[in-house]
Amino acid sequence: MKGEIINVGTEILIGDILNTNAQYISKELSMAGVSIYFQTTVGDNPDRLMEILKNSVERSDLIVLTGGLGPTQDDLTKETVAKLMGLDMEMHSESYEKMAAFFNKLSAKMTSNNLKQAYMPVGSHIIPNENGTAPGVLIEKDNKIIILLPGPPRELIPMFRDFVMPYLQGKSLDKFYSQYYKVSGIGESALEDMLLDIIDNQTNPTIATYAKPDEVMLRVTANAKTEDEARELLRKTDEIIVKRLGDNIYAKEDISLNEYTARLLIESGKTISLAESCTGGLISSKLTEIPGISKSLHSSIVCYSNESKINYLGVSKNTLESFGAVSRECAAEMLEGLLKNNNTDIAVATTGIAGPDGGTDDKPVGLVYVGIAFNGKIEIVERLLSGDRQRIQLKTANIALNLIRKTLLKD
Ligand code: ATP
Ligand code: MG
Repeated sequence: MKGEIINVGTEILIGDILNTNAQYISKELSMAGVSIYFQTTVGDNPDRLMEILKNSVERSDLIVLTGGLGPTQDDLTKETVAKLMGLDMEMHSESYEKMAAFFNKLSAKMTSNNLKQAYMPVGSHIIPNENGTAPGVLIEKDNKIIILLPGPPRELIPMFRDFVMPYLQGKSLDKFYSQYYKVSGIGESALEDMLLDIIDNQTNPTIATYAKPDEVMLRVTANAKTEDEARELLRKTDEIIVKRLGDNIYAKEDISLNEYTARLLIESGKTISLAESCTGGLISSKLTEIPGISKSLHSSIVCYSNESKINYLGVSKNTLESFGAVSRECAAEMLEGLLKNNNTDIAVATTGIAGPDGGTDDKPVGLVYVGIAFNGKIEIVERLLSGDRQRIQLKTANIALNLIRKTLLKD
């Protein structure tokens, strides 16, 4: 199947936002065996969109459009596609009811602009949007499939995953099955290196990596006629991956490291306190994103200055003078201070140089110490991280989350 993507939005054209939808959809469709031949970005302009669409229906079997499904005057994607395909617009009552309920829940007034969102091309399938008001639209006509999705990724991604992919799988004789691996403690390039042979020789299953700072997702997708056949294909690769990556794999589902670790903490019934210097509260921020963490998270203190490390954690002046704030010794005393003050099962401390200034030959930018105290034992990890300030902070936070995870699993 030949496919293409059209991203509608002046914001993308002028560089205000990055076109992440094109990347996401291309990757997903390629995995599903669709050959992507074109990606086009066009502003919110119906004439220029029409010009592109005329070409697209000539050359492609599948066209996915994103953006321009909203309530405002410049949201014209649906109307333009309907015109091209010779379809009238009609009120879709289910979408109307849903939207009315949505506005009711927010105690907001539905305007006539919003009403426009409930008008759909005659004969189209509606793709429900659980995270916003604009439903997606799927049109099958003259052997072409045209799919319209809203622009915001948090709306688009679940719609694509839960509706578009199963729909496309139903169209094809081949079935696609994916296995996810979430990996922490190994960077993307090191991970690719560890799996180089199977990545280089991949045909079926295919392997893709998606990286975040210190957290990588690996997806293995098998293509087969039956589920059993696909599972067999996945099983062989699974053995290799599990053997090589070991406990760096923290989950075999698409779950973030902070969510996984927070859940582990909650399930363990253990309490935790944190002292964050170079991460500035990032770890506790990531943990508090997860509901229920109040059962486990006692407190977090951002001890940025030497003075605060002395006053709030009892780090000795001597240690700070002899070894500096960014040192194994200081991290250890931060942990001791936490345990003394808070009586939690676990204590975690970070100290490091996030840059861009403040590095020396001895202690370069990116040098971080992450410490954990648990069951009377202290472990301190020293790492030299690359990247800008924000990346170093993010990586450090994820190293800490990973350390908490590994410590709890060992217990
Ligand atoms: P809305 O109902 O929010 O207006 P829409 O379907 O009309 O949705 P747009 O108005 O085109 O979509 O874009 C809304 C927002 O979605 C943008 O401000 C941007 O944040 C995000 N967005 C749109 N297109 C893309 C894209 N291609 N990649 C990433 N984000 C996008
Ligand atoms: Mg819009």
